[in-house]
Amino acid sequence: MTAVNKTLNGVDMSAYWLPFTPNRYFHQHPKIMRSAKGAYYYDDHGRKLFDGLSGLWCSPLGHADPRIGAAISQQYETMDYCPAFQMASEATFSLATRIANMAPAGLDKVFFTNSGSEAVDTALKIAIGYHRIMGNASRIRMIGRDRAYHGVGMGGISVGGMVANRKMFASMMMPGVDHLPHTLNLSQMAFSKGQPIWGAHLADELEKIVALQDANTIAAVILEPVQGSTGVIVPPQGYLQKIREICTKHGILLIFDEVITGFGRLGANFGADRFGVVPDMITFAKAITNGVIPLGGVIVRGDIYDSIIANGGQEQAIEFFHGYTYSGHPIPTAAGHAVLDIFESDDLVNRAKALEPVLENGLHAMKGKAGVLDIRNFGLSGAVELDPVSGKPGLRALKVLEACIERGALVRVAGDVIAVGPPFISEPKEVEFLCSVLGDAIDAAMKINA
Ligand code: PLP
Repeated sequence: MTAVNKTLNGVDMSAYWLPFTPNRYFHQHPKIMRSAKGAYYYDDHGRKLFDGLSGLWCSPLGHADPRIGAAISQQYETMDYCPAFQMASEATFSLATRIANMAPAGLDKVFFTNSGSEAVDTALKIAIGYHRIMGNASRIRMIGRDRAYHGVGMGGISVGGMVANRKMFASMMMPGVDHLPHTLNLSQMAFSKGQPIWGAHLADELEKIVALQDANTIAAVILEPVQGSTGVIVPPQGYLQKIREICTKHGILLIFDEVITGFGRLGANFGADRFGVVPDMITFAKAITNGVIPLGGVIVRGDIYDSIIANGGQEQAIEFFHGYTYSGHPIPTAAGHAVLDIFESDDLVNRAKALEPVLENGLHAMKGKAGVLDIRNFGLSGAVELDPVSGKPGLRALKVLEACIERGALVRVAGDVIAVGPPFISEPKEVEFLCSVLGDAIDAAMKINA
């Protein structure tokens, strides 16, 4: 058994079980971060590391912006907690309004959660509750997609399409879930810049599922506009539009899981805006507080809310039996306001958009390198997919991560895909640096594995 009771820098590392981490590998190759400022982390070796994934896609403003810290400490002094049920702070109401105003027209109610996973499970519950209230109690099936990541709640892993996240927990999976195919097809679309032109027809698979299951049994389709965690899989041109049309035709709700893509990552407030497709609900988390403190939520079509509320029975009755102790917590709410202030004052969505071609050019310059199977990009997100070492999936990408760190940048490894999503505050030359480090690291890792 590897690495129990191991100490590093005098710190006992034996008790902490790292989430979504190869713990045995980690203990052989520990990564300890000491501080973070602006677009950089500083590790226990004194290295300055460019934050190539904005934390975990959650810190587009970089780190330790004093404006967020000031808002949090002021809120702490004023009111550190407010019961989430049957009362709220004024700032919680106004943050909901602010988020709704940023969302596409018609999505004007916000339910707060603490995380993306909770946002997803909340959205699924709203979908089922809504259909029930509308007299369609048979609409309980859900449709997700292969390779989708919707967090780790029971709903999220059920509609998610990552085998590894599901198979250990098979008995806890929601019944009645189908999965659309994902849209990645390397032989048709490898090295596409932005949206691939091939693949809109894959949306027709939804018609097949509807025909098989009967539309009257299906509550919702949930998908990430760009599949982030499984390697920046960009929807083919026209695909999301077709999904929307089919959902509308059959009375199926469409949920966009925008936990990564929300708040500017795709160069627009939401992926829905960038793709010109309006879903019935949007889940968000991560960037709303710049990753400083947990907050998530669901933005819901107004008439879905109206229907649930109108059918809640007597006026004193709770209409929707769901919520968290920390829903709408005043401190993350204060952080959310500060973040949105900074988005506005520093014009960050446009800044993200302006960096998109820099990232695209930097990534696609790696085309032709040994070991590179595909390069994908959209908005300020991108990925390089590597040819895996035979019999050892993911190993080559882990070597690339080590080599990136040696060269001064952090990236994210998912299987044999390396994802990047730099902070919006990055300078163009920093995005170029990230890409050049990644390119050199791939070369270095290919030599090690040769
Ligand atoms: N949904 C999507 C699309 C995500 O990318 C994530 C996290 O990466 C989640 C849900 C889960 O969010 P959390 O980790 O905050 O629970």
